[in-house]
Amino acid sequence: MTKPTFPAASILGYPRIGPNRELKKALEAHWANRTDEATLHAAARELQQANLAKLTTLGLGATDASLPGDFAYYDQVLDATVALSSLPTRFADLADADGTINTAASFVLARGDESRAPLEMTKWFDTNYHYLVPEIGENTPIAANAKPLVESFKAHAANGNTIRPTLVGPITYLLLAKAEDGAAAGFDPLTRIDEVVAAYARILTELAAAGAPWVQIDEPALVTDRGAELAVPGALAESVYTRLAAATERPALFVTFGYGTAGDVTRPGAAQGLLARAGVEAVHADLVRGLAPKAEFLDDLAGSTLVAGIVDSRNIWRNNLAASLNVLKSLRTEVQTSNGILAVGTATSLQHVPHDVALENNLPAHLPAWLAFANQKVAEVITLAKGLAQGESAIAAELSAAESAINHRAAFAGTTVAAVRERLAALTDADFSRSDAATREAAQEAALNLPVLPTTTIGSFPQTGEVRTARAAHRNGSIDDAAYEGFLKAEIARVVELQERLGLDVLVHGEAERNDMVQYFAENFDGFSETANGWVQSYGSRATRPSILWGDVSRPVAFTVPWISYAASLTNKPFKGMLTGPVTILAWSFIRDDEPLSVSANQVALALRDEIADLQDAGIGIIQVDEPALRELLPLRKADQAAYLKWSVDSFRLSTAGAVDATQIHTHLCYSEFGEIIDAIDALDADVTSIEAARSRMEVTADLTEFGYSRGIGPGVYDIHSPRVPSTEEVAELIEIALASLPAKQLWINPDCGLKTRGYAETEASLANLVEAAIAARATI
Ligand code: GLN
Ligand code: ZN
Repeated sequence: MTKPTFPAASILGYPRIGPNRELKKALEAHWANRTDEATLHAAARELQQANLAKLTTLGLGATDASLPGDFAYYDQVLDATVALSSLPTRFADLADADGTINTAASFVLARGDESRAPLEMTKWFDTNYHYLVPEIGENTPIAANAKPLVESFKAHAANGNTIRPTLVGPITYLLLAKAEDGAAAGFDPLTRIDEVVAAYARILTELAAAGAPWVQIDEPALVTDRGAELAVPGALAESVYTRLAAATERPALFVTFGYGTAGDVTRPGAAQGLLARAGVEAVHADLVRGLAPKAEFLDDLAGSTLVAGIVDSRNIWRNNLAASLNVLKSLRTEVQTSNGILAVGTATSLQHVPHDVALENNLPAHLPAWLAFANQKVAEVITLAKGLAQGESAIAAELSAAESAINHRAAFAGTTVAAVRERLAALTDADFSRSDAATREAAQEAALNLPVLPTTTIGSFPQTGEVRTARAAHRNGSIDDAAYEGFLKAEIARVVELQERLGLDVLVHGEAERNDMVQYFAENFDGFSETANGWVQSYGSRATRPSILWGDVSRPVAFTVPWISYAASLTNKPFKGMLTGPVTILAWSFIRDDEPLSVSANQVALALRDEIADLQDAGIGIIQVDEPALRELLPLRKADQAAYLKWSVDSFRLSTAGAVDATQIHTHLCYSEFGEIIDAIDALDADVTSIEAARSRMEVTADLTEFGYSRGIGPGVYDIHSPRVPSTEEVAELIEIALASLPAKQLWINPDCGLKTRGYAETEASLANLVEAAIAARATI
């Protein structure tokens, strides 16, 4: 039997948030009870139709299943939970009479209600997108609910568009799930795989009945170490896909593997070959983050299509079409020897990039031609497929436009800056190290004269509506620089006065001048630019606007010093200046593809090092360099992690090692589960590290003791993620737990994280209790 051929050009998914954040607006209006559910559905349908119309205008076929069918109101993993009706026990009352999860119930899973916390949210692979973690126990229901997928397919078909319904794959779904609270110790959600496969088989049958020619199943978990073990002959992936391929009356299957190399990295292509032989009609490979499949491992593709994910979907650079075409041509030769067909696609869904460069009107003149957002990437995929089918001459104009943009970028003055390169080249080991911790400790003790169990905060104070309004007014020119500066100084003075009144020991300026802890730095460094409309979904209705790092980085003038030194001048207390670390600045920006990330990290580190020197000169005795994203960029494969941790830790050390002994360097990390990178955190060599710990009730303090961690540590004693005010007794209890495993001398008392999302009422009350509990604890030492 000949297998159906996958469309020659396609994308794995498209941004869902909308070019003008239409989805965000529709969701938030509905959640605020300003619109009913029918209105929300209509708005979402309208957005999808506009997206599909745009995609067909760009050249994707309306009827050959090249249109993505990956729309989700909130999250694609939540949609798989809905498709499986796998309602966790703590939400069981939300099930419809037939056991399914309706739209309103899915929003309770996503957002919680008065009596329940929502599903946990966690980062999707090594991206800044967050998915909702399924909770699966021995008895969580698992039953097919094809209705949302079928209805969506039919609605678009009625409109002349054949979409490709998309589902998170069965293996990925269960690997991303966590065991439900109350499940037997050691319960592994993967043990429910047979039921998930049976449910998916039913969904496939129903989609076929609705007329869907193709279904896309995303299995990115097979690019992780654990998933890779399941993608070898005789293991789970083979049996899962043999069973799905055997489903009666099903659409053709397209299985994708974004975010890396699927299966055994020494045998790239083997996982794809395995699934093709199991009966899957089209398989995907990520050629950007993963290795190109090799003919010798693809084995017999058995007539299946290999979709080469050659257009980067995690970054915003224009594709080097000539280079890509060469890769595709040689891959085609190899695929044909394996009896397969080659098609062109993206590395992952385009959900990680903004919609359209054409919406940017504020970028520096040199930049737009270098960029490709989602719409430009769709055009690139189509161009490459055309070039592959018809030869270079058929895409001559596109090839030459891409080439001149790439040449322009390489030769552009800011891309490589001699002074920055010379400074990097002159670095020696000494630039990465401070004197030994004991010497520093003595110098800092003399300089700072802090009480035992010193109290402080993580940096930001509530960003009130007034602060945001003033910032917007300044941005659109309705208040001038002087008025804005006056407003911010008054805000800073208020925050300093509040901290004095509360009796905190180490004061901060509150970060009122910062729109965002990364963008603010990008705006003040050369080498970065900001987009006006480059929104990327972070989770649910939330989107961020990553800055674009396009050139060598330097810091023209001190920019945090005026605010921080003004704040410090208002008090006699020890003062802490706040900076964002190199890894975090890069993790939350679009980064260069023409330099190793480690080089950019050291450039950012030197820019920060200059700022630290200036803060120090201005008399700031304590400087915190936040690295909440250190763990986020940790490579998915163990084998790649040591190299990452080496350069990331080095860049932090380079940023801070210029500080004199008496300057106390703090860092802040936003998570408590850092067991696997505890060595790296120790190697940062910060004098004080603050971390999240309240929700896990200080679990981390025991790990630190076991590790022999010897410098200052501030495990958060107050969970800032909700408006709840912790009582003095609760805080006292957490301090007591920490003191049971850590020497008092090492311990700092602080909240879990910054306070910018909180209101003033709860912030004041909580910090008052925190200070009271710290003072009481001191008396017991
Ligand atoms: N200093 C930052 C703040 O307080 C840290 C934020 C973070 O850890 N994400 O807001
Ligand atoms: Zn934090």
